[in-house]
Amino acid sequence: MTRALHTIGGQQVDPASSAWLEIMEPATGAAYGMLASGNATDVESAVNAAETALPIWTAMGPGERAACIHRLADAVEAELESLARMESIDNGKPIALARTMDIPRAVANLRFFADAALTDRQEEYTTGDVAMNTVLRDPIGVVGVISPWNLPLYLFTWKIAPALAAGNTVIAKPSELTPVTATRLGELSAECGMPPGVLNIVHGTGAAVGEAMVAHPRIKAISFTGGTATGARISAAAAPHFKKLSLELGGKNPNIIFDDADLDTALETSLRSSFANQGQICLCGSRILAHRAVLPQVVDAMVHGAQQLRIGDPLDEQTQQGALVSSDHRDKVAACVARASDEGGQVRCGGRHATDLPERCANGYFYEPTVITGLPIDAHTNMEEIFGPVVTITPFDDEDQAIAMANATDYGLSASVWTTDTDRAARVARRIEAGTVWVNCWLLRDLRVPFGGIKNSGVGREGGEEAMRFFTEAKTICTARSSG
Ligand code: NAD
Repeated sequence: MTRALHTIGGQQVDPASSAWLEIMEPATGAAYGMLASGNATDVESAVNAAETALPIWTAMGPGERAACIHRLADAVEAELESLARMESIDNGKPIALARTMDIPRAVANLRFFADAALTDRQEEYTTGDVAMNTVLRDPIGVVGVISPWNLPLYLFTWKIAPALAAGNTVIAKPSELTPVTATRLGELSAECGMPPGVLNIVHGTGAAVGEAMVAHPRIKAISFTGGTATGARISAAAAPHFKKLSLELGGKNPNIIFDDADLDTALETSLRSSFANQGQICLCGSRILAHRAVLPQVVDAMVHGAQQLRIGDPLDEQTQQGALVSSDHRDKVAACVARASDEGGQVRCGGRHATDLPERCANGYFYEPTVITGLPIDAHTNMEEIFGPVVTITPFDDEDQAIAMANATDYGLSASVWTTDTDRAARVARRIEAGTVWVNCWLLRDLRVPFGGIKNSGVGREGGEEAMRFFTEAKTICTARSSG
């Protein structure tokens, strides 16, 4: 049985409370390991270790810190295949996806921010002949990162890498549903010579560990990715501590297909943007808005495409749709589809637990890719995040209506626009309320660009310089040019 321990002060550590959680394999519905169930005592130990490590990490300077993070990237890359397998077992995602997306992206995150550590961020401003202002970007100190289960190592490293590169020491909490690759990352950090206490990983629930981190007075910043309701709780809990916060939250992203779109590409990509990772990517386009002239083709292609997707054992190389992350989550998705029917939606395909599976997966959390039509844009199903393999298709008649529909939810994470008219693409992209708008593409991510959401999809930006700014404090030194 896998045992996932905390990494605190460079050691693999049992939970202070001696309590353990089960680690479930979504594909089988069976427990396959035990997870340290942390609490405030473990968080306290991790903060002490991080504070002890801070002067050592600071003294190393950017060059040595960058080299250390690169060594960690090398170590992850060297274990790409076994980490992909771990991720697939732990999360239920197809191993081919973990191998080609999750783990390579974790390596890229570490390398990108290791290099970012080397950039000189000092700014200078001359105030006439009166003064010289020097702006420094100092590390914050001990910072916390909290991440979700959908892209476990990918999002964990997306936060840890800039925090470390900026010179902070870190307390990191992965999701209790997918702790295994994070545990290995902790072991690898020690093996590759990262000083003890620089990266501490504390496992456990949000209520026990996450809340203790947010409330801890010596953790000066929290970078959180997860659900919008959790983000609201974290905001409220962090406010009295004047804690720096970055919140990357939920989405209900529109995918707008105009009648002049290159339909083959649009539909092929829409199938991916609806169902990749079983629809459990915050950037999935869960609302397809189709111009009425192409609605029949869009519906036919999406239904046909969804029915062709191979649902199966995530460890099977041919599998395109794995298991949902938990039985609770599958029940939530099923309840959302039932509500869509109650709202008058037509379930054109899917809408059921998947059953045609290998024996090993008989009790796994599989759900068929589901396409729903016939719902008004303000139906709950079109307003609230489902975060599963469920997409709605809604027709529109003109550009203004498409934009109004796209902006009709409380979310504003991302959108896709499909059109061959470049003027229209530019017009529509500017008017959509979202942190990222993709034109004729989806999920193309340049790590240098700001990433985040507006409205209820988040506060602040990550990625590139934005992440380095978040994990540093600006300090201005204003020096008079003459002593008078
Ligand atoms: P979640 O909010 O339930 O949990 C996320 C993390 O927060 C977990 O580690 C959890 O243990 C912890 N947590 C829970 N309650 C907490 C609390 N009170 N205080 C501190 N920490 C707490 O989210 P999830 O179900 O793991 O992930 C799915 C959600 O994440 C979806 O809404 C999805 O859209 C969102 N997400 C957003 C992005 C983005 O970049 N915007 C990326 C991926 C996922």
